[in-house]
Amino acid sequence: HSGFVAIIGRPNVGKSTFMNRILGEKIAIMSPKAQTTRNKINGIYTTDDVQIVFVDTPGIHKPKNELDEYMDKAALSTLNQVDAVLFMVAADEKMGPGDQYIMHQLAEVKQPVYLLINKIDLVHPDDLLPVIEQYQSLYNFAEVFPISATMGNNVDDLLKKLESQL
Ligand code: GDP
Ligand code: MG
Repeated sequence: HSGFVAIIGRPNVGKSTFMNRILGEKIAIMSPKAQTTRNKINGIYTTDDVQIVFVDTPGIHKPKNELDEYMDKAALSTLNQVDAVLFMVAADEKMGPGDQYIMHQLAEVKQPVYLLINKIDLVHPDDLLPVIEQYQSLYNFAEVFPISATMGNNVDDLLKKLESQL
């Protein structure tokens, strides 16, 4: 099994933290500041059974200038070239226009899109279901994974799922 997986989501939801956890090295640049990850950074997850190349997609956000537009196009072309897309949101944050904009763009993506609800360590379990349902009402995700990139919850389940899909 081998393939390419892209990760997308608005700034600060935990994309770099997640990549660093599964890749076991500090490859992607982590920062509490928005927009630190400007270039896509590939990391390769390898076991005896699988090789997954992860792509840390630069943020898709409503274009304000030509550079934004260029970055959006680059991100979208990345999403159409991979085998699966991980769309990450944060469980402790309200869905915003940024998330809706990304889901709108994802409508053009034919590959399976998985919803990763990250930072579940910050919310009460009872508050999770409404969040999941809100996102699912706007996009037909292949599957939903509530995770914590810092604590590691459900990350193995997600990796197993990806392995089985590739
Ligand atoms: P990115 O912009 O999407 O790449 O987000 P980062 O990986 O840089 O993370 C942004 C902030 O969220 C950092 O301060 C991380 O430590 C924090 N963070 C990431 N994942 C989790 C998580 O699962 N739980 C909690 N509590 N914080 C997280
Ligand atoms: Mg990042």
